[in-house]
Amino acid sequence: MTVVSFQNVSKSFGERQVLTDITFDVPKGEVVSLIGPSGAGKSTLLRCVNQLDRHTAGSISVAGQSISPSCRQRDLIQLRQHVGMVFQSFNLWPHLSAIGNVMEGPVTVLGTPRAQAREQAAALLEQVGLSAHASKYPGQLSGGQQQRVAIARALAMQPKVMLFDEATSALDPEMVQEVLGVMEKLAESGMTMLVVTHEMAFARRIGHRVIFMVDGQIVEDERPETFFSAPATERGRTFLSRAL
Ligand code: ADP
Ligand code: MG
Repeated sequence: MTVVSFQNVSKSFGERQVLTDITFDVPKGEVVSLIGPSGAGKSTLLRCVNQLDRHTAGSISVAGQSISPSCRQRDLIQLRQHVGMVFQSFNLWPHLSAIGNVMEGPVTVLGTPRAQAREQAAALLEQVGLSAHASKYPGQLSGGQQQRVAIARALAMQPKVMLFDEATSALDPEMVQEVLGVMEKLAESGMTMLVVTHEMAFARRIGHRVIFMVDGQIVEDERPETFFSAPATERGRTFLSRAL
């Protein structure tokens, strides 16, 4: 089953075209590492999956729902329920505890009864190794802990696909590993994931597939072993020689 499908997708901001003719399918359970230089369009591509950025041409479908450039707000709300996203900044609600942050979406958006939402949230906090911190507020947690709460919060909506945009870039080095560890466990559990990362060793380890972008286009779409050991293009070779 295909979870995310891009067919000839392009995106312009005014005159400036930032995605050009992007086509790829992600089957259920696949983990895609999305890499490329700064400005390549990686964030824009992820943001098109949940339509935080609207594409301007081509077609996108997510979890069986087709999204056209002109679709209505109601369709976007439905789409976003199927897509979890974790950004570089954690954006937790500061006035809610860790468990409160994880419960909020299910209670307010899905209408899950509070007791049931609390039970699910507790299980998710356990999954990300934060059971002991469930009642703490974001301000009392480290950056790595906050990011793990953000992952649990996204998972609470039972997404069909998870998007990660440089989820560890804002973290102190000693906290990077705990977040990458949670992402790896999630990948092993069979979650469909699109992962933008600057951590090349991690991209290679976690990805079933690597999509390498430059200037808004897909330049290589390969198995990690192939891309990282023998990139097919000059641009791939140059990028890796600088990034590794
Ligand atoms: P990456 O995540 O690979 O660094 P981005 O997707 O953030 O790349 O950006 C791709 C290009 O799109 C960049 O040239 C960036 O300046 C441009 N861009 C991104 N967002 C906007 C926006 N809201 N308006 C205009 N240009 C944008
Ligand atoms: Mg980016």
